[in-house]
Amino acid sequence: MIKVAVNGYGTIGKRVADAVSCQPDMEIIGVSKTKPGAEAYVAKERGYPLYIADISKKDAFIKAGLEVAGSVEEMIQKADIVVDATPGGVGEGNKALYEKYQKKAIWEGGEEHELAGFSFNSSCNYDQAIGRQFARVVSCNTTGLCRIIKLIDSVFGVKKVRATMVRRGGDPGDIKRGPIDAIVLNPVTIPSHHGPDVQSVLPHISIVTSAMIVPTTLMHMHFINMELKNPATKEQVIELIKAHSRLGLIEKSTGITSTAELKEFTSDLLRPRGDLWENGIFADSLSVLDGTDLYLFQAIHQEADVVVETVDCIRAMAGDVKTAMESISITNKAVGLTAIR
Ligand code: NAD
Repeated sequence: MIKVAVNGYGTIGKRVADAVSCQPDMEIIGVSKTKPGAEAYVAKERGYPLYIADISKKDAFIKAGLEVAGSVEEMIQKADIVVDATPGGVGEGNKALYEKYQKKAIWEGGEEHELAGFSFNSSCNYDQAIGRQFARVVSCNTTGLCRIIKLIDSVFGVKKVRATMVRRGGDPGDIKRGPIDAIVLNPVTIPSHHGPDVQSVLPHISIVTSAMIVPTTLMHMHFINMELKNPATKEQVIELIKAHSRLGLIEKSTGITSTAELKEFTSDLLRPRGDLWENGIFADSLSVLDGTDLYLFQAIHQEADVVVETVDCIRAMAGDVKTAMESISITNKAVGLTAIR
């Protein structure tokens, strides 16, 4: 069993902990919080040993009825690998600790590529993660872009990608985030950082991205155009998507035309937390014009898609599974991911 510690038990960390704990080859040896609160109670409920970043806060946890297993430094020593899901920018400061104890570590997309020197996506570069000490799982938007671009590129060749991200303002629990009533260009300048982030995984892809933030919490929406090197048909692309276990296809017959209905659908399917781990590609939006001009809309659930990728990254770095296909299949089966059709 691979011993996994989750440093930063928040939106991503709590999902990673649950996904890891149902894998046949992994176990959670601890999760960390900075202060007592609802998520700490959930960790207790799940039976995850709770470690704290600042041990001087121990009394506050004890007063709240939360047992403290020790400090984050102690947790790291017990782990084979640490998933650092602390807020973007905070994880950088933890690198010295992982180096001190010669532990493997995975950061999430809020950290820079340079921190780990390697950016990961299960469908694109699993084999390059094998045995590494450090990796970064790219952000939710980049994960969604990489999955579909890699698939289309490997079959038809991609000359150029143009993509616009309509981004959720904050996660559902983020009561302080906005905007409340605005469309914010983020950034105003074009290209946005998402294109270079895709290139940290797929360096040969020519891509230009732009992004704006809107007042919603549920999901992001991407509008993607790919100029292909070789002609394709809509039917061929649909068949390829159907054969990919992390690309979901939202058929016209579902009546779903929005992120809200999609979230309702995944909740009704009794997915944990209503999570959409796969890309939500709208089948009706998929169009191939003039033979080589591909268009589609896809919904990306920011809280969920990177979770299954993180599990594969753990397995590549610290496990025995040598192929992406095998790891993806183990991960999907364990969490109950059958891509929507
Ligand atoms: P979050 O704020 O929801 O959770 C972070 C957790 O880390 C909190 O529980 C906090 O208490 C804890 N924490 C803060 N400082 C800490 C410290 N010094 N030591 C230990 N724990 C500490 O953040 P999140 O949204 O889960 O983001 C985590 C990472 O995942 C970031 O890199 C982010 O960019 C990335 N990411 C987030 C999303 C998203 O939509 N939420 C999507 C993809 C990737």
